[in-house]
Amino acid sequence: MQALATALRSALDLVSPPVCAGCDLPMAIRWPPFCGACSPLLEPVAPALQPPAASAAVALYAGPLADAIRRFKYAGRTDLAPALAALLVECAPLYGGAVDAVLPVPLHPSRLRQRGFNPAALLSRPLARALGARLLLSSVRRVRPTPAQAGLPRSQRKDNVRGAFEIAGPLGDRILVVDDVRTTGATLAELALTLREGGVREVSTLALARAPG
Ligand SMILES: [Zn+2]
Repeated sequence: MQALATALRSALDLVSPPVCAGCDLPMAIRWPPFCGACSPLLEPVAPALQPPAASAAVALYAGPLADAIRRFKYAGRTDLAPALAALLVECAPLYGGAVDAVLPVPLHPSRLRQRGFNPAALLSRPLARALGARLLLSSVRRVRPTPAQAGLPRSQRKDNVRGAFEIAGPLGDRILVVDDVRTTGATLAELALTLREGGVREVSTLALARAPG
């Protein structure tokens, strides 16, 4: 098994040699995903926001992590998905088997067409596998395209996402919602509300990064 894993990793290194997720510096190994210069610049979140807190994040949206997420989401760098997903997978043991299903925050179909992929879904697959949980890719639909939250006053962001989601399939009892960046949390709160109204008993959320403040 170990030999197979090593062989697979070498094959992967030939196809896409490991680079730092923050600055593209070539690296000898895939873990940690940031180089020696970028790693110390990662900003941890407060302990109260670390998993398994109900609204957890891996780190603050700043420095090399913000660079990596921007490149992943907006510059077509889906090759960074495994490295970023690995940061989420690191959190898996903290949930102690208390998750039935992982739900990446759904994108509206128009946004999905525009971007070509759902960043949260790419990040969620390895995490669901590590948790032994189902990955919910079509159980919830985004029925309203929401304008960008950035630039809206905090008070309006909540109205902006109201009724944005609709349940479209089986869920689970305990769901972990995954997003790439948590800003005000309005989107995640609305999704959590929709899930609870749909009978989900426990909803927690995990973001790769959390906007400072
Ligand atoms: Zn770097």
